[in-house]
Amino acid sequence: MTSQTIVPKRMLGKSGIALSIVGLGTVKFGRVTGVKYPGVSSIPTDAEAGALLDAAERLEINLIDTAPAYGDSEERLGRLLQGRTHPWFIVTKAGEAWDGSSSSFDFSESAVSGSIDRSLDRLRVAELGCVLLHSDGHAEVEPEAFRGAIRALARAKTSGRVRAIGASVKSFEGAIRAFEWADVLMIELGGTPAMELVSERAAQLGIGILLKKTLASGHLDAIGPSPIVNAMTRAFRVPGVCSAIVGTTNIAHLRENCEAAVQATDEVAKGLSGERAGTEKGA
Ligand code: NAP
Repeated sequence: MTSQTIVPKRMLGKSGIALSIVGLGTVKFGRVTGVKYPGVSSIPTDAEAGALLDAAERLEINLIDTAPAYGDSEERLGRLLQGRTHPWFIVTKAGEAWDGSSSSFDFSESAVSGSIDRSLDRLRVAELGCVLLHSDGHAEVEPEAFRGAIRALARAKTSGRVRAIGASVKSFEGAIRAFEWADVLMIELGGTPAMELVSERAAQLGIGILLKKTLASGHLDAIGPSPIVNAMTRAFRVPGVCSAIVGTTNIAHLRENCEAAVQATDEVAKGLSGERAGTEKGA
């Protein structure tokens, strides 16, 4: 990728917010235990994380994803983003806490409200871009479990502390239930077409779709040949996808991911992605 190349933006549902088609995921900024990545042993230093942010800014990435459950990712971002003029759109979460060895979940109104306040403090901003319920996979399919959490999110949005609200879900049913109230859903496409249908329907409803785990959390052999290009092509062939949030601490990987996403969206726009995938399958 040349230094002139920029990552294009897409609208996040009907929110009026334009986000880069690649976002930076920051689990590895704050946490190395209890994660499924291959070979993670240390978190980047401030200098390394700062250089990654510089590279992301040069690529015109404006989407960054964090969570209270990602160790000290929020605190570090608060420190590292301070003083920058780049218009970062910060997505964080609420409902899951990480104590250094295990996660706990609380989707009560008071817990989610308190979590939003702490995220504002840690990230050192007056307004968060988006807060998503950090689902455990169970509460999202229980009819009442998110009721208090949704009240807290809606109040934060009305009071100007959060621009968009939603959920990071783990299931088709959880996504469908969130259609009733969410501005944004974070989903993993996974191996079945079900989540592709979620994205397509979300687009019709004006709900923004962010993808997580686009690169199978780094298990590239599970994706197959040309994994980065193929994963991005799969992602951007799906109607309704705004952005793929990819976790990386490596500047070369970040550039490669952006290049693949730009190539994928170009090919999808030209109707070439099916041909290329077919060619590779037959090769
Ligand atoms: P991912 O983006 O699919 O994969 C990240 C892994 O892939 C990292 O180990 C990274 O290692 C590696 N990688 C990235 N680019 C690469 C490249 N070009 N070549 C080789 N390896 C590459 O998985 P993820 O981080 O789990 O998910 C993405 C983001 O989604 C997270 O960071 C987080 O922000 C969000 N997320 C949300 C939830 C939720 O429940 N809300 C759950 C999971 C993730 P390097 O550091 O070496 O590049």
